[in-house]
Amino acid sequence: MRLTGRRESNNVEDRRGMGTGAKAGIGGIGGIIVIALFTFLSGGNIGDFVNNVVQTQMQGPAEVQTNGDQHQFTEEEEKLADFSKQILAGTEDVWTEQFQLHGMKYQYPTLVLFTGAVQTACGNGSAAMGPFYCSGDQRLYLDLSFFSGMRKDLGIQAKGDLDFAYAYVIAHEVGHHVEYLRGILGKCHAKMARVSKEEANKLSVKLELLADYYAGCWAHYDNEKYQSLTDGDIEEAIDCAEKIGDNYLQKKARGYALPETFTHGTSEQRMYWLKKGIETGDWNTTTFAPGDLD
Ligand SMILES: [Zn+2]
Repeated sequence: MRLTGRRESNNVEDRRGMGTGAKAGIGGIGGIIVIALFTFLSGGNIGDFVNNVVQTQMQGPAEVQTNGDQHQFTEEEEKLADFSKQILAGTEDVWTEQFQLHGMKYQYPTLVLFTGAVQTACGNGSAAMGPFYCSGDQRLYLDLSFFSGMRKDLGIQAKGDLDFAYAYVIAHEVGHHVEYLRGILGKCHAKMARVSKEEANKLSVKLELLADYYAGCWAHYDNEKYQSLTDGDIEEAIDCAEKIGDNYLQKKARGYALPETFTHGTSEQRMYWLKKGIETGDWNTTTFAPGDLD
């Protein structure tokens, strides 16, 4: 990507090195909506997380418990933090314009950088879940170590620097925020609570594919405005989309895939929607069929 001279967003809360210490005053837990980048398979992380959500709901806001640990960041970490702020700024520019064009106002989400564990309006989150969005506080949560894992654990390939795949990850979470502002996320989750597990999974897939599509739309306009994409960038993000497909991750983890358990879409679907977004940027396209959200 070409990002020289691009501004950095100020809508970032740097909670790195703060342990699980929570910010004071997170309360009023509205819609418990957390959406991670992909289905997490190993261990009981998601189960723990759901338990924590219930606990937090019953106990109300947590106490502040910052531990004063002065974490020293490496040059690499600082570069990734600056990069993330630039990408977030790009999503602010693009979505502000798109919302305006469609008679709506874009409200900026906040990006929370954390290390290890983090407290959110949706409960306690952990780095092991991968990046996620919580609509309860309209924040995206990102532990920057996820990025090095993308190369090491997910094996994402890049022709030059691995960067646009990272941008896709951030833009996907911003995509959930766009879904939230457009009223899609709330409707979808309400419907998911009413239907069978299998039907809910199908709706979840559509929500995830739409976030992939919106990530692509962002890239479409970001590139139009700033010529940000360079040779090999699109292939790199498509490679990432393939490697976070449910079928791909399940096969890798246990040798086979169970389609009825998919919540994020297959590799093929994720690649298709990301690519379609990059190519068209069309605001009106959706992954939902008429009646899906009624
Ligand atoms: Zn997602």
